[in-house]
Amino acid sequence: MVDEPRIARAVREILFAIGEDPEREGLLETPERVAEAYAQLFSGLAKEPARHLEGGFAEEARDLILIRDLPMASLCEHHLLPFTGKAHVGYVPNGRVAGFSELARVVEGYAKRPQLQERLTAQVADAVYEKLGSSGAIVVVEATHTCMTMRRAETTGSVAVTSAARGIFEEDAGRRAEAMALISGGRSGSR
Ligand SMILES: [Zn+2]
Repeated sequence: MVDEPRIARAVREILFAIGEDPEREGLLETPERVAEAYAQLFSGLAKEPARHLEGGFAEEARDLILIRDLPMASLCEHHLLPFTGKAHVGYVPNGRVAGFSELARVVEGYAKRPQLQERLTAQVADAVYEKLGSSGAIVVVEATHTCMTMRRAETTGSVAVTSAARGIFEEDAGRRAEAMALISGGRSGSR
């Protein structure tokens, strides 16, 4: 459980530290509001996101299943500033298939922690590969990091792309290339 009163006390200290007056009207309830927001944004810490893949349903499909453009919003663990973007999750089932909404919940669960984009990508791939018991998993995350873009003008618009391949996608360059083509396909003109 997140200790909200403790966060509120710390935020009040930050306001003092930057030379602000936490007693002025606009800031009076800010510590409590930030505490409430952090409790939500870090709620993934108390959960095991991979549990969403324990169910699934039996299916003999053995072809690539790909869900593209899942929304992703997290906080970087180095600055506690948001990084936001999209996650693309592909896998080849081996007897069991997950609901699309379950895959979205896995991404969301790992995102709601102090995170690194690289680790988030690997955790989703491991969950889909190991928990779902798939033949292979491939995950690509594209994100903009506000710790870069808000502090340095020259990084505005830059996007960090991370990928993780497991199982057959790690072993077979052809299957990996096929999945990557589908992940990047249809995106031309989207930005
Ligand atoms: Zn950062």
